[in-house]
Amino acid sequence: MRCDVVAVGTELLLGQIVDTNSSWIGEQLALSGIDSLRQTKVGDNLDRIVGELRDALARADAVIVCGGLGPTQDDITRDAIAEVMGVALVRDHDLEDRIRSMFGSRGRFMPDNNLRQADVPEGASILDDMPGTAPGLRCPVATPDGEKVIYAVPGVPWEMQQMLTGSILPDLRRRSGDTSVIRSRVVRTWGQSESGLAEMLAAYHDELEETGRCTLAFLASGIEGLKVRLTAKAATAEEADALLADEVRTVCGVLGDYVFSVDDESVEEVVVRLLHEQGLTIGAAESVTGGLITARLTDVPGASAVVRGGVVSYASDVKFSVLGVPEGPVVTEEAAMAMARGACEVLGCDAAVSTTGVAGPDPMEGLPPGTVWLGTCVDGEAAAVTVRLPGDRDRVRQFATISVLNLLRQQLERRAR
Ligand code: ATP
Repeated sequence: MRCDVVAVGTELLLGQIVDTNSSWIGEQLALSGIDSLRQTKVGDNLDRIVGELRDALARADAVIVCGGLGPTQDDITRDAIAEVMGVALVRDHDLEDRIRSMFGSRGRFMPDNNLRQADVPEGASILDDMPGTAPGLRCPVATPDGEKVIYAVPGVPWEMQQMLTGSILPDLRRRSGDTSVIRSRVVRTWGQSESGLAEMLAAYHDELEETGRCTLAFLASGIEGLKVRLTAKAATAEEADALLADEVRTVCGVLGDYVFSVDDESVEEVVVRLLHEQGLTIGAAESVTGGLITARLTDVPGASAVVRGGVVSYASDVKFSVLGVPEGPVVTEEAAMAMARGACEVLGCDAAVSTTGVAGPDPMEGLPPGTVWLGTCVDGEAAAVTVRLPGDRDRVRQFATISVLNLLRQQLERRAR
């Protein structure tokens, strides 16, 4: 089974949007054992979209086209598909009712234009997953090589993703006659580079290549950490799950303390859970992260039981007057520890984290951008480490946040042993 991808949108060609949809779709198709051998981009032009779809159908058994399903005049993917199928667009009245009620339930006025989204090529069916107002379409196309299919999904990534996993991938696998089950697990890490992780797992990786038990992929996921994904194929879900449970155990064993969770738990969720389990409260003293740590901690449901608050002590004199940091340089080990200790006192909490550093782009106090001190204080004992974080201002601040949360996570885990 081969499924190619066509991304529609002039803004993709102009570089105003990066086509992350195609790469995501390609990855998911590969994981499902479906070949995707060509991905193309085309602007909002009817003839060119029609041409692209015809070319893709000539090469592949199925085509996923994303974007251009919205309500405006330049959303013409529907029209292009109808032309390729050689049919007219017809108004789907059930879909019309569904779109009207979606607007109604959100108490919003519906511009008439939105009903364009209820026009579908004759013979096409609507995908069951419909998270927004743009429907996904399954469009059978008769070709000299037999019946093929075009799936149309909106450009909005989360809508597209839900339709792909919920409707399209199962449909494609049914069409391919493949009844095996593919499952994935994710080991989440922080503190080691992608190449560092690959080196640690090199022998294991070679063994997997030889035995074909499962596949291993590294995914750098920004503030979500660096993920190691294991994927296995088996006759049943139970068999795949059992196999993966063993592999996850092996990978966690090799990577040790770099692993902060398996599957969905974020580092802040792990921290909040550990604090809960140990009956501790937490506060933050943030300079370079400017509130990002507190924002991530308070994002976790149930945070109110453990999070006391945060002090954004950006200016040096605030660090001195509010947190009791001794006057002097503020991007130092002593300052980071004093900030964490000060947060415990000022906020009345058992544990605290702190950050102080140089976000960039300019150096500060002779220190290069990305130099950050991360402080912690647990049970009255303060500690600090320094890191050199890569990237621009935004990445430095985000990476400082996950780094200090991970540092505290390691300390809390050691404390529980
Ligand atoms: P909607 O009905 O919601 O407007 P649509 O199918 O018309 O959906 P587009 O208008 O093409 O989709 O794109 C909507 C938004 O989705 C874009 O502004 C962009 O943010 C995002 N998007 C579109 N195509 C892609 C793509 N290939 N990769 C990543 N993001 C995309």
